[in-house]
Amino acid sequence: MRYTSKMAGSVRVPPRDERRVRLEEAGYNLFNVPSAAVAVDLLTDSGTGTMSDEQWAAMFEGDEAYAGSESFAELERSVEAVMGIEHVVPTHQGRGAENVLYGTLVDEGDVVPNNTHFDTTRAHVVENGGRPVDCPADGAFDPRSDGDFLGNFDLDCARRVVDDVGAERVPVVVVTITNNSAAGQPVSVANLREVRAFADEIDATFVVDACRFAENAQFVQQREREFADASVAEIAHEQLSDADAVVMSGKKDGLVNVGGFVGVADESLLEAVEQRAILYEGFLTYGGMAGRDLAAFAVGLREAVQEPYVQARVDQVRELADTVEDAGLPVYRPVGGHAIYVDAGAAYDHIPDDQFPGQSLAVELYREGAVRGVELGSFAFPETERPEFVRLALPRRTYHREHIDYVGETAAAVAARSAEAPGYTVVDEPPMKELRHFSARLEPV
Ligand SMILES: *Cc1c(COP(=O)(O)O)cnc(C)c1O
Repeated sequence: MRYTSKMAGSVRVPPRDERRVRLEEAGYNLFNVPSAAVAVDLLTDSGTGTMSDEQWAAMFEGDEAYAGSESFAELERSVEAVMGIEHVVPTHQGRGAENVLYGTLVDEGDVVPNNTHFDTTRAHVVENGGRPVDCPADGAFDPRSDGDFLGNFDLDCARRVVDDVGAERVPVVVVTITNNSAAGQPVSVANLREVRAFADEIDATFVVDACRFAENAQFVQQREREFADASVAEIAHEQLSDADAVVMSGKKDGLVNVGGFVGVADESLLEAVEQRAILYEGFLTYGGMAGRDLAAFAVGLREAVQEPYVQARVDQVRELADTVEDAGLPVYRPVGGHAIYVDAGAAYDHIPDDQFPGQSLAVELYREGAVRGVELGSFAFPETERPEFVRLALPRRTYHREHIDYVGETAAAVAARSAEAPGYTVVDEPPMKELRHFSARLEPV
């Protein structure tokens, strides 16, 4: 028991016939389905959460000045207090921060190791002529592995990259906390410290993608002995204290619907980052956000590290995992911070990987109950070795027990009919393969 609702939105469950038509019209890509035709929307936890009364109140006081906005000063104070970062370069969302930062750090022919590149991160590295290399922990992609910090960055992997291409070709090392693409698994502070030392060895910039820094801090408190008695707020500070720069999407642990920033600790980066931000995002005291967005973001960051909030958050994700697993669909364990990952390769072992069992399962969850998730397997990540996951991500502070029960009923109906689910083939896709799952069209085989 953590929240009451002060504003209500309604839920509509479209009838079965409509769901069938929606799927056809969408080219079996759930990104093309209108949200009015979705009953429980677990497509993403990005920008889909519910703001608090205090955030709404702060919005009324948003300072819309172009230069020197007081709301930006508020955000700076929050970032310094919550994340320990002094320089904030605001952007319209996380990928804006990626464009600004990786555009200044990555050149043609460079190689960028990351525990696992999130899709937009991968695309920005490629866009700047770099080669993204994933260095996940052993077992990170095994749906039946276990471990406290399966999100960790594998240093041996990164050392092999450096041996291969030379340190001068590796200008940046990135750690993503939590590791979104690897089932939302956490990264230990010990691992972050090791990566810092490694970046020093090869004279690289150490970047932390901190989109889910609060959820990561919660896991560290529960699992890393050194921090058993520390508060989530203290850990949030500690885990970012070694980074040269931070990429942040406010749409995740900023608890807002839009916004982001580059946090800069290494002052030698600041000028180049600022110049590029002015070009692509806007002046340095708004960066593509309205003053009221900055104001809500400033409050949201402080709320994200309050323990009752982050505890309830992680608990609800675990509750969803238990419910879906009880319904008969296999779920990746241990459960991550923001989403559950259904193992579609196991649920639909009659569908070969090149016919996208994950996409098929995502389509069936919509067909059976208008529940929307997203495939994160061979369809979303062509040319990488990934398990066939379907991610069901929980928006923050938005759904209640009855929604989770409804997803469980839908999952049970899907599980009961698994033998009937078809494979899919792509009939139309955009030129940039890294982004194809956002817009490609498919049809059943
Ligand atoms: C969401 C996300 C981004 C990009 O942020 P947007 O606000 O969606 O542009 C970058 N990295 C990770 C790990 C993310 O989850």
